[in-house]
Amino acid sequence: MRKVTIFGSTGSIGENTVDLIARAPESYDVVALTGGRNVARLAEQAISLNAELAVTAFDNCYDDLKTALSGTGIEVAAGEAAVAEAADRKADWFMSAIVGAAGLVPGLRALRHGTILALANKESLVTAGPYLMAEARKYGATILPVDSEHSAVFQALVGEDMKAVERIIITASGGAFRDWPLKALETATLAEASAHPNWDMGQRITIDSASMFNKAMELIETKEFFGIDADKIEAVVHPESLIHALVGFNDGALMAHLGPPDMRHAIGYALHWPDRGHVPVARLDLAQIGSLNFRLADEVRYPALRIARDVMQTGGLSGAAFNASKEAALDAFIAGKIGFQDMARLVDKVLNRLQQRNGLSCDILTLDKVLATDHLARETTQDMMQDATVR
Ligand code: NAD
Ligand code: MG
Repeated sequence: MRKVTIFGSTGSIGENTVDLIARAPESYDVVALTGGRNVARLAEQAISLNAELAVTAFDNCYDDLKTALSGTGIEVAAGEAAVAEAADRKADWFMSAIVGAAGLVPGLRALRHGTILALANKESLVTAGPYLMAEARKYGATILPVDSEHSAVFQALVGEDMKAVERIIITASGGAFRDWPLKALETATLAEASAHPNWDMGQRITIDSASMFNKAMELIETKEFFGIDADKIEAVVHPESLIHALVGFNDGALMAHLGPPDMRHAIGYALHWPDRGHVPVARLDLAQIGSLNFRLADEVRYPALRIARDVMQTGGLSGAAFNASKEAALDAFIAGKIGFQDMARLVDKVLNRLQQRNGLSCDILTLDKVLATDHLARETTQDMMQDATVR
């Protein structure tokens, strides 16, 4: 029996993880599940997987969770600290699937067991990549990427020497607006940005796909996880989302990873690693697919990609500032306070201001510095949002 804990079990990645684990209950012993406000679903999952502990991230949801689980013997806790404490219970495999920077600390705490952290929470690598990777080394833990592109790269690199890698290409579906004229993006609505053509994901990452902030995050993730120079990382638009990434080697070979756009593939790979186990995703019928298409990932159309290049070049605390500012800008777009294209303009301005005023480079990243920068960038984004010059 493998002991497993899922952070963010009620989200899109969390539900897919629960789905895989529920298919083989004899193989898993569920230690903890954590969720947010959807207490009814969290309780249902905890009962069906017979979890030891269920935690909601929000204090005011405690009573509802307690009531929903009364008489089951399942322990109940609430609050940000309780989510992080769930990581202190030993497990062999942790899934980090909280959305946003809130996923960083639980993942870091889980590394201390020296076991496996399956990492869907891309914000961890973007905000604190070098620190996270150093902590994993320190405790002898293994981080397995669960973002589909990074799982694809990881799989293409099995048995290869990083020294022979010339480039890594990650693909982008282009999101909801890939065929829209550039001008129309100014007035794109929340509902329009929330409909992904290929993937069924949480709302935030879906909007980030339309703006390419998601791909921007993934470029940074690639640099941090694989330890490769920024100039060797590329993005290409691939509308079918069947090739997830390609690795180019110094003999000219390109190794591509194909699979259906179903996150259970990347989750299942991490769950069975280092073996390959059966994963119930659709099998691709190549003759039926017929052709695969590729387009330039245009940095004028997608300013987020250009911002990502600046962040990779500056390094240090710029990833933490970038992510926090992007999260605050996304909140503002969801709340109807700014337009779709204002998000990138705002993030760009915030990063420039922080770079000028505070400097974002830093040799040794610490958790305190990352959290302080996260806080500062959110505040600065709020301040600059009031500023009419965003548009
Ligand atoms: P989601 O919004 O569907 O789910 C997020 C989960 O985190 C939920 O369980 C929610 O209750 C919990 N949560 C929200 N706010 C929290 C907080 N402040 N503290 C603790 N828990 C909180 O998100 P998702 O789409 O499943 O994405 C999860 C992570 O995985 C993100 O980092 C995302 O970028 C990444 N990711 C997702 C996909 C995908 O297909 N959905 C693909 C690749 C990477
Ligand atoms: Mg991805």
